[in-house]
Amino acid sequence: MDFEAFFRDAIQAIKAENRYRVFADLERHAGAFPQATRYGEDGTEEVTVWCSNDYLGMGQHPVVLDAMAEALRKCGAGAGGTRNISGTNHYHVLLERELASLHDKEAALLFTSGYTANEATLSTLARLMPGTVIFSDALNHASMIQGILQSRGEKKIFRHNDVADLDRLLAETEPERPKLVAFESIYSMEGDIAPIAEICEVAERHGAMTYLDEVHAVGMYGPRGAGVAEREGIMDRLTVIQGTLAKAFGVMGGYVAASAALVDVVRSHAPGFIFTTALPPAIAAGALASVSYLKTNQALRERHQERAATLRRRLREAGIPMMPSKSHIVPVLVGDPRLCKQASDALLTRHKIYIQPINYPTVPRGTERLRLTPTPLHDDERMDRLVAALAEVWSELRLKRVA
Ligand SMILES: *Cc1c(COP(=O)(O)O)cnc(C)c1O
Repeated sequence: MDFEAFFRDAIQAIKAENRYRVFADLERHAGAFPQATRYGEDGTEEVTVWCSNDYLGMGQHPVVLDAMAEALRKCGAGAGGTRNISGTNHYHVLLERELASLHDKEAALLFTSGYTANEATLSTLARLMPGTVIFSDALNHASMIQGILQSRGEKKIFRHNDVADLDRLLAETEPERPKLVAFESIYSMEGDIAPIAEICEVAERHGAMTYLDEVHAVGMYGPRGAGVAEREGIMDRLTVIQGTLAKAFGVMGGYVAASAALVDVVRSHAPGFIFTTALPPAIAAGALASVSYLKTNQALRERHQERAATLRRRLREAGIPMMPSKSHIVPVLVGDPRLCKQASDALLTRHKIYIQPINYPTVPRGTERLRLTPTPLHDDERMDRLVAALAEVWSELRLKRVA
């Protein structure tokens, strides 16, 4: 077989669908976020980033940088092993305690990413309990879908945020089989929020466990930044709360928080936890500083919500079509992969505004979009420039406007 020809054809197929991915080559500037230098074919230029998941700018916060620098000097670069074989550093232990306390759970377990946390935990839980049925929201993240697939258990998909559909699927499943309902609090590409209390209520009625991905909410929602379940006062009704340290917390890593026994089972059985080197101590120290800081600081959360509300209002006034978001995520619908890429290119080359086009398989075909993530550091002046640039690009490309 001509392997190289096969690979070239595979790429050609993606290009033919207008969904070939080009990465922006960026150098972020600590102290000047959301500004970054972009490396292009003919040199470099200064751009404003409008699509970062560093939602609160914690990736450059002095509290985080100082903690990382101190730990780096004290402990060195890497952890030096898996958690079991010499790699558990005291910062990991402190961070797991802090995360358990954040979510009011008995224990927490760190992973190298939020992706691994989902994949390893879901696959392990369902594999250990024979006959488990997993009920999965139709828009769940790829990391949960992979975990469910790997468990080789049965999966039933309920319509997105549809409690009645979930109820129906649970009711038609044999009562004696173990059940787990997996969903997210804030859906990252839509920005809508799950009816967590109602889902818990239905799950409880059918004796099902609940697994909530709060990746796009931790740090940003709830009085201590523990997420939407904290805001709604229902953290205790969730069996497992999963989160990331890489988005609002600005660093890297993922975790689950749950009962001591459940966490111990995952710690003891999940290959994705056991057979990989622990996070570098400096990363754990930075994440710990970020989580602790955001536990008591409302100002960034309030400013973040204000910025998102202001951006939505201004885009509405300009007639730019948004998807109905209830969170800090502001998705602007284009609905065509080629136009979406053209809009993104025009914003970048002519206006020095970087918004990555979001296409299949991240979102369904025909719903291609520009996903805006305003942070507390996107000031009025930057917003003025963004809205004017979007209005210009919308006219040029004759994209749909709303009244
Ligand atoms: C980003 C994301 C993850 C993965 O988290 P990482 O820490 O980036 O690996 C998990 N779930 C959802 C919903 C996400 O958007």
